[in-house]
Amino acid sequence: MKTSVNYIIVGQGLAGTILAQTLIKSGKSIIIINDCKSSSASMVAAGLYNPVVFKRLVKSWKADELISFMDKFYVDSETLLGEHFYFKKQIVKLFSEEQEKVLWLKKSKEDVGRYLSKTIQNNFLKDLIHYNSAGESSEVIDAGNLNTSLFLNSFENYFKINKQHIDEIFEYDKLTFTDHSVNYKNINADKLIFCEGYKTIHNPYFNWLPFKLTKGELLTIKIPMPLEDELSFADKVINKGVFVLPLGNNFFKVGATYEWTDLSENTTAAGKNFLIEKLDKIFKVPYEIVIQQAGIRPTVLDRRPLIGMHKHFPSLGIFNGMGTKGVMLAPFFANQFADFLENKTVLDKEVDIARFSNN
Ligand SMILES: Cc1cc2nc3c(=O)[nH]c(=O)nc-3n(C[C@H](O)[C@H](O)[C@H](O)COP(=O)(O)OP(=O)(O)OC[C@H]3O[C@@H](n4cnc5c(N)ncnc54)[C@H](O)[C@@H]3O)c2cc1C
Repeated sequence: MKTSVNYIIVGQGLAGTILAQTLIKSGKSIIIINDCKSSSASMVAAGLYNPVVFKRLVKSWKADELISFMDKFYVDSETLLGEHFYFKKQIVKLFSEEQEKVLWLKKSKEDVGRYLSKTIQNNFLKDLIHYNSAGESSEVIDAGNLNTSLFLNSFENYFKINKQHIDEIFEYDKLTFTDHSVNYKNINADKLIFCEGYKTIHNPYFNWLPFKLTKGELLTIKIPMPLEDELSFADKVINKGVFVLPLGNNFFKVGATYEWTDLSENTTAAGKNFLIEKLDKIFKVPYEIVIQQAGIRPTVLDRRPLIGMHKHFPSLGIFNGMGTKGVMLAPFFANQFADFLENKTVLDKEVDIARFSNN
């Protein structure tokens, strides 16, 4: 039986899911094709969002706009799906030296200061954590995390119930198109948007885009601790070289590594050892490693998303390049892309694929 929709979307990671839901909210019909058996960065990700770049203590790119937009998108999605996957948490920055604290207090009076607590804490979770002699830390406020696997699984169910989901590997040789329509097997659509994450490097229409992929590895660990400490930790994320995100029941996600040469999806001893070394500098109590995971982030040479329609094939588009910050970037830019597609508004030049000459 033939089906007609406005959009076919290929890939149901964070990018495809959020674009699909944004288009549905604006009254468009979609079908999403996803290979559910294959890996995705989104399923592995810790899902943290942090408006502050710790290295330089500055606001991350477009933080103010992205955060207010993201808040609404995820809270609306929770209401729609009846699940709780979006959490506000404070990121606790453990100071290794006095200079870090001095810089923090200076920066807290600048523009980035709206995200930096002005309070210096002493000996937070002191029975668990190694401190320098001063035992000081402070917090990033307006941060948190998305439980990405719950978010994606809930949307997968929702799309399935609404007959908007097909679980298969997209076959490029079954695609035909004109400037105004596409056909894939028994589906006709006005446009097709690829949201394939790093696998776009195998896409014959968009493989020329300058991805500079980054592998990341994570550990899930278990730290037995008194209930009182568990409760104090529950709405915090600890940062010192790596992040430690509480998952509940004494489980924590720890990450991440950044690797540009080995781009296999396998976990490695080197990744594990790197994380253990950092963890041992944070915790003075024993912990058990439960799982090690790896994924490939769709990072781009100029560190900006890749969004737009193909110059020569105007019915084919891409929504990708969310890099290390898919949780924050995708809702805002899905909205901008949907507006561009439906209302012919312009895309931000920094994310438009037209910035690369091959297109
Ligand atoms: C270790 C690690 C930690 C991270 N931590 C964070 C974090 O804390 N916060 C944050 O914001 N971001 C984080 N990220 C980055 C984040 O994961 C990415 O920005 C985001 O997931 C990218 O989403 P995507 O949908 O573009 O790609 P993906 O998640 O890779 O999704 C692509 C989807 O497309 C499907 N697909 C691809 N090709 C085809 C095909 N031909 N046919 C059918 N289906 C196909 C795949 O199966 C997959 O489901 C992390 C990434 C890693 C690896």
